[in-house]
Amino acid sequence: MATLDALKLTLRQSSLSATENETQPLTDAQYGSSFETLMQSSEWTTYQNFIAPQLSHLLLSRSRISILEIGPGPKSVLEYLPEHVKRRIKRYVAFEPNEEFGTKLEERLISGKQLADLRDPPTVHKTRFTLESGDADTGSSSQKFDIILFCHSMYGMNPKRKFIEKALEMLVDSPAQGLVVVFHRDGCLNLDGLVCHRTASFPAATVSVLDDNETLDRFTLFITGHTMKDAVTDELTRAKWRETCRALGSRKNEHSQRLEFSTPTIMAVFTRNATALSKLKATVPRLVEKETVKSREARVHQPAAIFKPTDIAQVQECVQWALKHDTGLTVIGGGHSGHCLWSGVVAVDMDAFDQINIVTDTSETQSSLLIAGSGCKTEQIIRKSMEAGKTVPLGSRPSVGAGICLQGGIGHLSRIHGLTCDAIVGAVVISVASGDIMCVGKVPEKYQPAGAVRPENEVDLLWVINGAGTNFGIVVSFIFKTYPAPIYSVHNWVVPLKSDRGAEYTIREFNTAIASKLPRKYSADAYLFWDEGQLQLGVNTFEIIPNPSRSSPLTALATPFLPASVTYGEPKHAKMVDGIGLFETEMYMSEMHGGHTGGKTSSFKRCIFLNDVGSEKISKLLVEAVQKRPTPFCYLHLLHGGGAIADVAPEATAFGCRDWDFACVVTGVWPREQDGEKSARDAIQWVYSVVRDLLPLSNGIYGADLGPDPRDAAFAIKAFGPNRSRLARIKESSDPNNVLAYACPLKNSIRDPRLILLITGEHGVGKDYCASAWKSFVSGYTHRERSFVASVVSISDAIKREYASRTAADTDTLLSNKREDRDYKEQHRASLTDYYQEQMKQRPKLPEESFLGAVHSAAGVDVLFITGMRDEAPLATFSHLVPESRVLEIRITASESTQLLRRGVKGDYSEYSIDDKTSRPDLKFANEMYGSTLAHNFAERCLAPLLHEGIEQLGSMVPSIPDFPRPGIEFRHVLDIAQRPEGLTLCTSLLRAHFTGDWNQVGAIACCEAGGFIFASALAVQVKVHLLLIRESGKLPPPTVSTARSPSYVSLSAGGKATKYSIEMNVEKIPRRKPVVLVDDVLATGKTLCAALQLLLKAGVNLEDISVLNVAEFPLHQGRKLLRDEGFGRVNVRSLLVFGGV
Ligand SMILES: Cc1cc2nc3c(=O)[nH]c(=O)nc-3n(C[C@H](O)[C@H](O)[C@H](O)COP(=O)(O)OP(=O)(O)OC[C@H]3O[C@@H](n4cnc5c(N)ncnc54)[C@H](O)[C@@H]3O)c2cc1C
Repeated sequence: MATLDALKLTLRQSSLSATENETQPLTDAQYGSSFETLMQSSEWTTYQNFIAPQLSHLLLSRSRISILEIGPGPKSVLEYLPEHVKRRIKRYVAFEPNEEFGTKLEERLISGKQLADLRDPPTVHKTRFTLESGDADTGSSSQKFDIILFCHSMYGMNPKRKFIEKALEMLVDSPAQGLVVVFHRDGCLNLDGLVCHRTASFPAATVSVLDDNETLDRFTLFITGHTMKDAVTDELTRAKWRETCRALGSRKNEHSQRLEFSTPTIMAVFTRNATALSKLKATVPRLVEKETVKSREARVHQPAAIFKPTDIAQVQECVQWALKHDTGLTVIGGGHSGHCLWSGVVAVDMDAFDQINIVTDTSETQSSLLIAGSGCKTEQIIRKSMEAGKTVPLGSRPSVGAGICLQGGIGHLSRIHGLTCDAIVGAVVISVASGDIMCVGKVPEKYQPAGAVRPENEVDLLWVINGAGTNFGIVVSFIFKTYPAPIYSVHNWVVPLKSDRGAEYTIREFNTAIASKLPRKYSADAYLFWDEGQLQLGVNTFEIIPNPSRSSPLTALATPFLPASVTYGEPKHAKMVDGIGLFETEMYMSEMHGGHTGGKTSSFKRCIFLNDVGSEKISKLLVEAVQKRPTPFCYLHLLHGGGAIADVAPEATAFGCRDWDFACVVTGVWPREQDGEKSARDAIQWVYSVVRDLLPLSNGIYGADLGPDPRDAAFAIKAFGPNRSRLARIKESSDPNNVLAYACPLKNSIRDPRLILLITGEHGVGKDYCASAWKSFVSGYTHRERSFVASVVSISDAIKREYASRTAADTDTLLSNKREDRDYKEQHRASLTDYYQEQMKQRPKLPEESFLGAVHSAAGVDVLFITGMRDEAPLATFSHLVPESRVLEIRITASESTQLLRRGVKGDYSEYSIDDKTSRPDLKFANEMYGSTLAHNFAERCLAPLLHEGIEQLGSMVPSIPDFPRPGIEFRHVLDIAQRPEGLTLCTSLLRAHFTGDWNQVGAIACCEAGGFIFASALAVQVKVHLLLIRESGKLPPPTVSTARSPSYVSLSAGGKATKYSIEMNVEKIPRRKPVVLVDDVLATGKTLCAALQLLLKAGVNLEDISVLNVAEFPLHQGRKLLRDEGFGRVNVRSLLVFGGV
């Protein structure tokens, strides 16, 4: 998909023949209509998933906010904020030069009460914001603002830096520093050395414009910003512009009436420190060119400045400067990642730290240690170590730098010696919390810099450097253990693949007959690529010869390791090489597509870990991926794993993904001269979608190169195996100011609501009405001086907005809940449903996208009501996506006559009816009466207990214990509740209150050992119901009933056996035809619960009669999904607490 930037360039080029004298700027009317066209074409998702949450996040830390908005158009971007955030805005001033827009804006704000809590009426200046704008214009004694907002790409403001500087002068200093916030559509915002406080990006943003002449004319006017003076030339130019749009725009499918352009949007936030670079410039050398940065993707960014410190004090200077000015830094090693440069951020290039020394390790085995500065590149380290007959396990490219050491490091020695990070025994690091120099692990005395300290969390720091080290400090030097330098016997073959089925078979054969059979001193890589008109499999084998003969090490050639059954024929190449020669033997460098060398191509990679690549599902996906490549040179590289990589336990180092046979590097390649163009964007998008498709079948993701691009966030969750929560914790203490904000994302900075209530029910039952009544209840509810912010979001709003922007429908009326708008909504109902179905076909993840969009649009609220859901079993489907939030479903019902009365029309609503067979809501509300009394009573009875402070208090009684039962696991000690003086009493009363049935009717409280016994016993005493113990087989006297059970997550984590065993209970204790409440301490994978439920069923208890109460739930394990899959979706399951960890 072409970007708006590319379109702009091409449109301008196509009117280049015109001199400036022949063009004229847009009139107000032209500007107005073209601006509206652009706004209608802009995807609502950009507002919902990016602008609103980012702005909310900034505004939520402040109260009584004054805002100056520059050039809002007819509608303020603030209207997209959740209500509770809007309420913080007390003063609003805008500059809107378009008279008509200014008037509309005033109307929306004043009559439409869009910002209802303003202290004074809004001030809209119908004039341009200029460098001279000031007191007189902003119209009050205080012209300072908390937030100054440029929301439409600073259209027409040049030079942009001057306008931002002007805005910076108008910021308040207290109570919190004022912020200038710029949302910029398309390309990079080059601000000429201004330093950003924070930035964020949304690469997935698009505009989608109707393909008719009139709309395209308005659209192109906005993009180019001019018309031609001469009417005939103008007409001809417009025709040319339309054709350009049609040539560059993409269509979702061949029938689509809309042209789409990509508009990667960024947010840049500035404080008054934006201009504070001069001090650093005076003390640390600066680079003018991005010369050491290899990544073409990174080069697109416009950093505030690149500094190249030459000694440790200068690195400290950079860190201290960042801390003082509350801003971030990026670090450049070999410059291969896409985020070592970031727009508006200062980069620290470690290139000058290029010393390498080899010393004898006197402390242990007299082996050699290699000390390398973090500016060293792979080839330098290999060369220098080879001089001493040694080597360090590194990767395949000579120019790759410190990033490979810090993030893992996979190479041809990995199967015999492990990853690069496994060879790191120590490091010298500059703390980004204090600027101190720290030595961690083994650092020979001579290489300990003056003033270096041993940090308190030294063990943690060495642990993170072993596999996830880009987030915690700036590494100055690494200390590696070394191995004897081997030579390598390398062979390669290219096997043409005649058909897709044949290709899948050949991959399977490669995996089973070759790769899986190889001893550790061999490795076999495979490449899947398209060349010479067909799919090809490249096979590259490497044999490590550890002790080459000193006389002529490279002359003898080992025989390739291939079983007789494999018929690849003669190898295409066979070579004996040393560690340097090895760099040239990679097939993608020499064999594929004539070789990817010589600066002809650019590439983008993400790497995913796979086992059993020959399985039907994986091999099919791999073949499909290459078939769908958007450019001819895209390919897959399977790097051989196993061996020594898996010898290290996942939690022993931060590199937590160790159990994989292949690291599949998905590489998008395009001609270098097309950097930043459509083919580059398509190739990058292809990489993301191939990895996303493989994700469910994977054993993790390689953390290398995951960065601030939001598309990486989902991958980062799978990057560190069981170590993610420990990493997030260490990040918090080692980098409290988030100086290294642009490295691999370890945690989400925007908090999700604590309680999410999914309001479901058939059409016309009054879901929106009830949600709004309950929102008012929650907003007005206080418990011991604690109040709550609540919000209602309809999950279908986003799709309605999209639909409206693609048709002539009116967004506001479609979204309205007013009675008078019902007819209008009814008219659009069928085509809206068609539109939704169509989108579902094209975007299978649309429900998840919509759910997360709704949640993120309510950043910072305590309680979120989500309406408009049509999904079956929404809890089982979505709750794991928001593992920190407690999610409940409230089903609203109403009799048919009430529904008809409310809708006021007759019709067929069958598609809205909810199938109740596989799931059951947590709460039900029969909405049969007019007025809100019933809803209010329901809220008192059922919602108030959810807000009870006791829940928070109970949560605070569950300590998190790091590294238990194994290193790397953050254990939530739920049973500790019972060890606290008031814990058991509080927990019991909450369990009692959260049961929605009648305790007097309950026949028994069932419980599993051991945690369940404790909580169930205390509860049983309180509610006077007898206990039903579920125990491991053989521990209860007969007669019993039993069933098989898998071990729990915790016992597996503690190293317990994965074998199944049986559980049982006494038959005599089972009540006849009476409800049973099953009480347990924890719901994680759901296996224990499923077994217990099976047991109850086997004992004759009716499924409808069973309810479950858990003290805590860990939604990431998707226990609810398992319950539903196993047929227990209709069991009512309640948990008092939820925890996001694993
Ligand atoms: C052509 C190519 C081939 C590759 N081959 C392999 C391979 O064979 N095996 C493999 O495992 N990986 C391979 N990779 C992936 C590679 O490991 C990553 O791209 C790695 O991040 C590159 O490190 P760098 O220092 O060159 O890049 P940079 O972009 O400079 O750094 C990468 C990350 O490390 C951080 N960083 C750099 N220096 C420091 C420091 N001193 N202190 C703190 N943080 C720092 C940066 O801020 C950035 O987040 C390859 C990549 C490419 C492009």
